[in-house]
Amino acid sequence: MIALRAAAIFALTALGLSASACGERTEHVTPSQEQISNDEASGEDAASPGEASDLKPGDIDDARIIAYQNEPGSWLSHGQGYEERRFSALTEINRDTVGELGLAWFKNTGSKRAQESTPIVVDGVMYFTSTWSRVFAIDAATGETLWRYDPEVPGEWARRLCCDVVNRGVSVYQGRVYVGTLDGRLIALNAATGERVWEVDTLVDRTRFYSITGAPRAAKGKIFIGNGGAEFGVRGYVSAYDAESGELVWRFFTVPGNPELPFEHPELEMAAETWSGDKWWEYGGGGTVWNSIVYDPMLDQLYIGVGNGSPWAREIRSPGGGDNLFLSSIVALNPNTGRMIWHYQTTPGENWDYTATQDIALAELEIDGAARAVLLQAPKNGFFYVIDRTNGELLRAHPYTEVNWASHVDLQTGRPAENPELDYSKDAKWVLPGSSGGHNWQPMATDIEAGVVYIPTQESPLLFSLSESWKQSKTYDVEKARWNPGLALSEFPKMTLENLDSAPPSRGVLKAFDPLTGDTKWAVEQSYYWNGGVLGTAGGLVFQGDAQGQLNAYDKSNGDLLWRFDTHTSILAPPVTYAVNGVQYLSILTGGGGADLFGGANATASFKYGNDGRLLTFKLGGTETLPAPKLRGQAIPEQVGEIATVAEISAGEKKYNVYCAACHGMFARSGGSIPDLRLSVEARQEAFVEIVLEGWLAGNGMAAFDDILSKADVERIQSFVQARAREDKAVAAGEKDEAILTWINDE
Ligand code: CA
Repeated sequence: MIALRAAAIFALTALGLSASACGERTEHVTPSQEQISNDEASGEDAASPGEASDLKPGDIDDARIIAYQNEPGSWLSHGQGYEERRFSALTEINRDTVGELGLAWFKNTGSKRAQESTPIVVDGVMYFTSTWSRVFAIDAATGETLWRYDPEVPGEWARRLCCDVVNRGVSVYQGRVYVGTLDGRLIALNAATGERVWEVDTLVDRTRFYSITGAPRAAKGKIFIGNGGAEFGVRGYVSAYDAESGELVWRFFTVPGNPELPFEHPELEMAAETWSGDKWWEYGGGGTVWNSIVYDPMLDQLYIGVGNGSPWAREIRSPGGGDNLFLSSIVALNPNTGRMIWHYQTTPGENWDYTATQDIALAELEIDGAARAVLLQAPKNGFFYVIDRTNGELLRAHPYTEVNWASHVDLQTGRPAENPELDYSKDAKWVLPGSSGGHNWQPMATDIEAGVVYIPTQESPLLFSLSESWKQSKTYDVEKARWNPGLALSEFPKMTLENLDSAPPSRGVLKAFDPLTGDTKWAVEQSYYWNGGVLGTAGGLVFQGDAQGQLNAYDKSNGDLLWRFDTHTSILAPPVTYAVNGVQYLSILTGGGGADLFGGANATASFKYGNDGRLLTFKLGGTETLPAPKLRGQAIPEQVGEIATVAEISAGEKKYNVYCAACHGMFARSGGSIPDLRLSVEARQEAFVEIVLEGWLAGNGMAAFDDILSKADVERIQSFVQARAREDKAVAAGEKDEAILTWINDE
């Protein structure tokens, strides 16, 4: 149990490997093709191409998104409308009828990895993404595939990803479908055919480990897109492209570059004054805009949520202190020019991976007797921000979850009051929220009438400890081809075990939270912290999937569970609801993992049953059923070769913790969506060195590591993996007690 608890606490994210194969480019789908593509599929519909329609496919423009409340049967942009409230006015499925909700149909997406997409639904067609930035267009009533597009992301790009081969969705705009790909391209597709119209490379430096996992946003004839990569060491920015031509219109960097060079835009001169030291631009600085970009049609402003610093540890990143703008900030930009209007920094001198990239919702609320146009965000740092979006003034900042890094936020200065006892520069400290955040990308829903937001909160502490090399010699070697948090990564599992007794508990809590008073109206506790995004409805319901694979409907007035459906697969994606020909549907993608690739152990459905990527669609009276789940094989094979010495195993563990654990799991135990190396068959064990150094499985995402690991390193890593396999095999056979030895021996 110790190991499971430690694994649940360990919330560092991943480099990424793949078991899914890249497929073909755009295809109009016939049933036989679909079956070939979905090699893991079963129960696929017998599909035929859709009926011709008078409607122009993907016919969405600004006016239609602004007036989204006039067509509740559609889901027009990422968060539903520009306000991104994820609260549907549809009421056919409601408190009284939800008991009759049943599966209408499902589609296999051919994925065994995390699915995070919010589908777009317009004029009876649904557009969504799966793993590897693949795009699907389907008949929203029947699930029949209309077209598919595969951007053919090179498999080895998976090594450049913090958190698996995920994508959070497309933008549909003026007859086109826009997708950002893992390898940094922005692609425009014809919404009717799926054929590529244009493609641009959004990356400023392809030698650095940039990626795109977020959904593009569209407004004013432009497509806005950011990127990820701050764990590896990149410099964040957001770009605007002309929707018609793909030409770059503007680019806003979120952190300054080398001060010896001219500033790309004037805001960076001010930002550079908040940084210190002589290396931040070599490290990259971080500040990636990997998720939230929201257009405000009322004020003609664009809000971007900016990510964490790189490295996380500020003492390394900016040794003389400073706020390090615009890390962990919400920045308002002019959408036409990219010039800054205002900024608000949630976490000055960010030190804990506290991104402000979580979804942003817009609302008009009466606050202290005055009508205010506000934006709402629950970033990772645990405080819920209500900000006047005309000027960036902070109005409220109540904690929405357990927080120990700061006591409160001063509303006058807008700054948090940090807790000096949790300074981790000398001793390791348990910090809440941990690096996975009090709330991550899994979206919340905003219920204006009830005055609450429904937030999938997380209580997931992380043991922070500053890099040993920095503590000893004020040196820190950034390797751009691996994680660079600035923490004591190689010893992390050992330290976690040693400090387990003082670890705060880990769990998830779905909350109905009043952002103005800070009161929690109701809460539903979940045994595992990493659960799905949320949808609210005027039918009185809150829908959320969880790590155990249950899709749940709660009464939005009190949190009572009214209905649930067992999908047998962990859920991260948010549900959407829509209507076609007067029938209300509810859709959700299944597949766990993402930033929690290994923490789940046997706590999650994906660990027990595999991780079947599906799109599930429900309606009242639906009678479809899913195939019976099969338990995943967990038996550890015999390990080939000789048993290594403790010194060799210890050396291997240190390398494993730095280069492998983020994907394959702490203690060499994987959470279910990435291969568990203890379970490798004999042939894979024998080819271990070639797989790691030569990239024999690069097509699946396991790229070659010959740039940063030697043959001796890899042999030692294998020694550690096999030692762990032998130990767990002995535990399973009842030959020894459940215990995780840590092999690190510094003598
Ligand atoms: Ca991060």
